[in-house]
Amino acid sequence: MVFLGAPGAGKGTQARILQEHYGYRQISTGDLLRENLRLGTHLGEDADGYMSRGELVPDRLIVDMVKGALPESSVPVIFDGFPRTIPQARTLDTMLQEREGAVPRAICFRVDLSDAEKRMLGRGRDDDTRQTVARRFAVFEEHRQSLEAYYNRARDVRFFEIDASQPVDRVTAQLLRVLGLDGVRPTTS
Ligand code: AMP
Repeated sequence: MVFLGAPGAGKGTQARILQEHYGYRQISTGDLLRENLRLGTHLGEDADGYMSRGELVPDRLIVDMVKGALPESSVPVIFDGFPRTIPQARTLDTMLQEREGAVPRAICFRVDLSDAEKRMLGRGRDDDTRQTVARRFAVFEEHRQSLEAYYNRARDVRFFEIDASQPVDRVTAQLLRVLGLDGVRPTTS
């Protein structure tokens, strides 16, 4: 499944909870890029400027990186922060069709941008400055409608919305309901 929603909506927090307790694998393009920056790889060097300006890293780089990060097909994956553009969404559909003959569900995290900004400025990441945050919201808005429309097509019921302004445990409860996992006991590992 894919997690859609503004930067700071809590997608990463929820993806980590589902990874930790419900057998999903989180693939966060932001985390993968930051890891590449830290290790000083070519990809990290290429992505650095875009990330520090709050712009999107080019689709080609992102898609190659995601392909390299896919686990074997029996593991359910949460794509967190991906796709962010229509070409990325199309490529993901193709990739998953080939891999497992299925297309992903989309979970849309709804949150007021003022709440999301507060969360981001509280977490202290390098690209969480007031200026970059404003640019990242603008970039998010540019792509939001078309991405939501891509997943929310009339005959294609794979789009779910959750209220992400609530506290973490409430958002998790909504997610579990949407996924049909309420009542399933979390693992502790
Ligand atoms: P995030 O951790 O998801 O907020 O991503 C941090 C930064 O990484 C973004 O501001 C973009 O510069 C870059 N990034 C992460 N995911 C993508 C993606 N799917 N497409 C393009 N750029 C991305």
